Amino acid sequence: MLKRVIVTGGAGFIGSHLCEKLVRENFEVLCIDNYFTGTRKNLSALIDKPIFEAMRHDITFPLYVETDQIYNLACPASPIHYQSDPVQTTKTSVHGSINMLGLAKRTNARILQASTSEVYGDPQVHPQIETYQGNVNPIGPRACYDEGKRCAETLFFDYHRQHNLVIKIGRIFNTFGPRMLPNDGRVVSNFIVQALTGSPISIYGDGSHTRSFCYVSDTVEALFLLMSSQNNFTGPVNIGNPSELSILELAELIIKKTGSSSKITHKKIPIDDPTRRKPNISLAKEKLGWIPKVGLEEGLEKTIKYFKSIL
Ligand code: NAD
Ligand code: UDP
Repeated sequence: MLKRVIVTGGAGFIGSHLCEKLVRENFEVLCIDNYFTGTRKNLSALIDKPIFEAMRHDITFPLYVETDQIYNLACPASPIHYQSDPVQTTKTSVHGSINMLGLAKRTNARILQASTSEVYGDPQVHPQIETYQGNVNPIGPRACYDEGKRCAETLFFDYHRQHNLVIKIGRIFNTFGPRMLPNDGRVVSNFIVQALTGSPISIYGDGSHTRSFCYVSDTVEALFLLMSSQNNFTGPVNIGNPSELSILELAELIIKKTGSSSKITHKKIPIDDPTRRKPNISLAKEKLGWIPKVGLEEGLEKTIKYFKSIL
């Protein structure tokens, strides 16, 4: 019998790539999505496959289906989207996780949480290692996302300790690639769209902030390996590409790669914007045998090609 797997948030950017991977691996995939930031277009390569099904559902409400595995990715991930209805964002991480954990408990399914590097907040330890407990402002505009994800990790560990659930927590660092929304405000999509349309490249602050960008196929591979890992490996485990660069360097690289004549402009830095971010991925290497394969330049080329095709 085929293994049945649920992907919440499966119509989103990472979720749709994950659904494609799981269908390729011959899983019976049920995508659960309320289409807040996801689209049915993202599922166009899957929709006529007999082993794929999509259901419109908001995970803040209970769900009664049968399954063997649950990947819990539902949650808006870009600051403009998660801050547009912050109460719903927290509900998605907290009520949504309780509903999905309850489903895992009833069906005896293993369950994976798409957590985030945002649990480290504005980190005082660099690079970030899983044992670092973070520096998050609990009352700022990013808190609905950061604290929601932190509470989701708490719930996962309590269900594990209290109900012996097999849980997996992946802390995903900035991921990019085709199917990012052109208007979701994330830095890679913003800069590429600005460069391709000849608009000014908007750097928030002086551009010295750093991030480390992982191409989506690498992130998806790590999530898949994490789900398949031994029962007693729960994580949390960092999933990201450790090659760190400043936002100014990213802007210059995208201008070069697109051959754009756009000029750089500086805007106000958002509140609580983390100043540095880079994952320590030793644990992922050791436990999952995973390291990212796609470099930033190669990933940007694929992503630029995608945006050229949709703009
Ligand atoms: P995305 O916004 O493209 O995908 C999220 C999906 O969840 C969308 O399809 C959206 O419609 C759906 N969704 C939101 N609220 C829902 C709800 N209440 N019920 C059902 N569906 C709901 O974002 P993404 O970049 O693909 O991120 C996927 C997951 O990975 C998120 O949980 C995010 O927090 C996590 N993550 C992403 C990144 C990144 O850089 N992309 C980094 C860290 C963590
Ligand atoms: N950023 C920027 N210009 C933009 C969008 C983002 O300078 O048009 C900066 C942002 O302030 C942050 C970094 O790029 O320092 C990454 O932002 P993003 O929203 O992509 O991800 P996150 O802050 O969640 O890591």
